[in-house]
Amino acid sequence: MMGQNRLPEEKKRYWLSALLKCSFGSCEYHKDIKFSEKNVFCLDCLDGFCRHCKEPHSLHRRLKIYKYSYQDVVRHSELQNYFDCSSIQTYVSNNEKIVHLRPRTSPKEFKLRKSESNAKEGRKATPPKWGGACEECGKHLQDLHNRFCSILCKVSLTAYPISNVL
Ligand SMILES: [Zn+2]
Ligand SMILES: [Zn+2]
Ligand SMILES: [Zn+2]
Repeated sequence: MMGQNRLPEEKKRYWLSALLKCSFGSCEYHKDIKFSEKNVFCLDCLDGFCRHCKEPHSLHRRLKIYKYSYQDVVRHSELQNYFDCSSIQTYVSNNEKIVHLRPRTSPKEFKLRKSESNAKEGRKATPPKWGGACEECGKHLQDLHNRFCSILCKVSLTAYPISNVL
């Protein structure tokens, strides 16, 4: 018997594409109650759900969506069951390795750019000497051996044809 988590290639493409397109804002059905942020993605239904509507999916394959610096992230260990996330930069949040769904839109970078104009004080922001860059979007990566900053970047550069993402 095959591992129960293995998905056929064809299906894999659909759920990845759905996951990357899904916006994990508040749930349309429960926006008036507390904790209605969508924080679960169901791989069988290809949609995101909040904690109030995830019950019918308890037997489905699901991914928990977390927020890390306001970005959507998933746990490396959970995602690894369904998608090979090697070469993607991981971060540590609450002692768990996490992976970004999409490239970060980082407010930090804007700040860096601004502070470059204060260079006369000799505190020029030098680009870090360590790390690498994402092969798809060029974002700085902490670890040199990584090639991508996010799932989306890996998917767009590798064999998963995803159309109309974002
Ligand atoms: Zn809901
Ligand atoms: Zn489901
Ligand atoms: Zn990237």
